[in-house]
Amino acid sequence: MSDCIFCRIAKQEIPATVVYEDESVIAFKDLSPQAPVHILIIPKKHVASLMEVRAEDSQTLAHIMGEVVPKLANEQQLSAGFRVVINTGEEGGQTVNHLHFHLLGGRSMQWPPG
Ligand code: 5GP
Ligand code: ZN
Repeated sequence: MSDCIFCRIAKQEIPATVVYEDESVIAFKDLSPQAPVHILIIPKKHVASLMEVRAEDSQTLAHIMGEVVPKLANEQQLSAGFRVVINTGEEGGQTVNHLHFHLLGGRSMQWPPG
């Protein structure tokens, strides 16, 4: 989607600090980090939210969770632990309507989240 900020980042039309990229996924540093490590991992394909995911997207989501997250967690030296968050919809706190996984680490996390 041409008016979607994360689609524009995926196409490198606007700048971001990219930490990982392959044919279906790109990961970049959050503009407003909430932890020492705060990376956003997104499918390059525009999917508005977890509510919009379809069966055809499951391979990309499995790739993110099964390969990209552990790779980045290793690279970012998060062996002490980390959190992966997918804010979904208005009450879920989603502000950008392109599916994204927050990878947060480098400090102790609180529970329950706000
Ligand atoms: P959400 O609230 O939708 O779960 O998360 C959206 C995230 O995107 C926020 O953490 C916000 O800081 C980040 N963000 C919003 N716009 C940009 C941008 O243009 N570049 C980057 N790198 N991060 C952004
Ligand atoms: Zn998009």
